[in-house]
Amino acid sequence: MTFAPRPRDAIFSVAPYVGGESVVAGANQAIKLSSNEGAFGAPPAAIAAIAEASVGIHRYPDGSSTALRSAIGKRFGLDPSRIVCGNGSDELLTLLIQSYGGVGTELTMSAHGFLVYEIAAKIAGMTVRKAPERNLTTDIDAILAHITPATRVVCLANPNNPTGSLVHQSEIARLRSKLPTDVLLVLDAAYAEYVDDPDYDPGIQLADAGSNTVMTRTFSKIFGLGGVRLGWAYACTPIVDVLNRARGPFNVSSLAAAAGIAALADPAWAVRSRTHNSRARTRLTERLHSIGITTYRSHANFLLADFGTPARARAADLHLRSCFIITRPMSAYALPRCLRITIGTDKECDAVADALADFCGLHPHV
Ligand SMILES: *Cc1c(COP(=O)(O)O)cnc(C)c1O
Repeated sequence: MTFAPRPRDAIFSVAPYVGGESVVAGANQAIKLSSNEGAFGAPPAAIAAIAEASVGIHRYPDGSSTALRSAIGKRFGLDPSRIVCGNGSDELLTLLIQSYGGVGTELTMSAHGFLVYEIAAKIAGMTVRKAPERNLTTDIDAILAHITPATRVVCLANPNNPTGSLVHQSEIARLRSKLPTDVLLVLDAAYAEYVDDPDYDPGIQLADAGSNTVMTRTFSKIFGLGGVRLGWAYACTPIVDVLNRARGPFNVSSLAAAAGIAALADPAWAVRSRTHNSRARTRLTERLHSIGITTYRSHANFLLADFGTPARARAADLHLRSCFIITRPMSAYALPRCLRITIGTDKECDAVADALADFCGLHPHV
């Protein structure tokens, strides 16, 4: 009899994360609107910085990302000693969940919150509690009703992916004030740079106000650097200390750090991207509504389009693929009647609207 190595049972409680697809059979180049990458690609300065840094790749990177943290601190007006950089914000989210959660404890999230929280919590041996939403928006009272003595972590993406919904600062502050003080609140602000609502704070205020809230940010969306994997967290010193113990010694590559520093050096990039996004999102929303497709109010660089039934959403997805356009089916988020569409360039938005107009002509909603 032979015995094979056996992982912990928790490993099999999660399905592997499936990212947005990027190829369509038969197409050389598809329009990829499936992963919320910024509409304008990577900043040219970041590409140049990677080329320049590549001559040094035989050296290990700076294990404490000093220059990068200093650039982030300068750009956002934050103390660099309270910043931790990571291999994408996914790494930091996972480390926070592993460090503050664990077997026998619970994580609370919104019903259609970001999937990475659930995956990381289950791997850590935690029970995941999902609070129902109201009109696909996080319901703070429902989150509070899903807190138990075993809750250790609450994760909230604001704006949320995949719904695009936003929770105003007063409501986030109310959540924090009603949560037990020993529960870690993780505010995931991956789309912060796209928000143009004045009553919004990505998490800096609460991270500054106490020792139990952490904000995470990413270079993968507006900064166009998803491929190099770069994110950061901002918190009080004790949480920063935990992340620095839990992370790998060289978790940020020298190329990622160089690209991040270069991207931050151009403040106009984010302004131009946000301006484009708000305008293109409004235009795409109007076009989809004019052909009878429901969308939800989005504060990020994507729209959740509701096709009424899972069958019609599948048909729409197939039609878009036949036009070499890839969006994101939403079954994994328990929204099988929806597709999530990233806001691309004007040309890409027009292509997706034209293709869906064809689709609605062929498949009128009955
Ligand atoms: C894209 C995204 C992330 C970021 O991931 P990285 O690991 O930094 O690429 C985090 N949270 C949400 C809600 C996202 O949509």
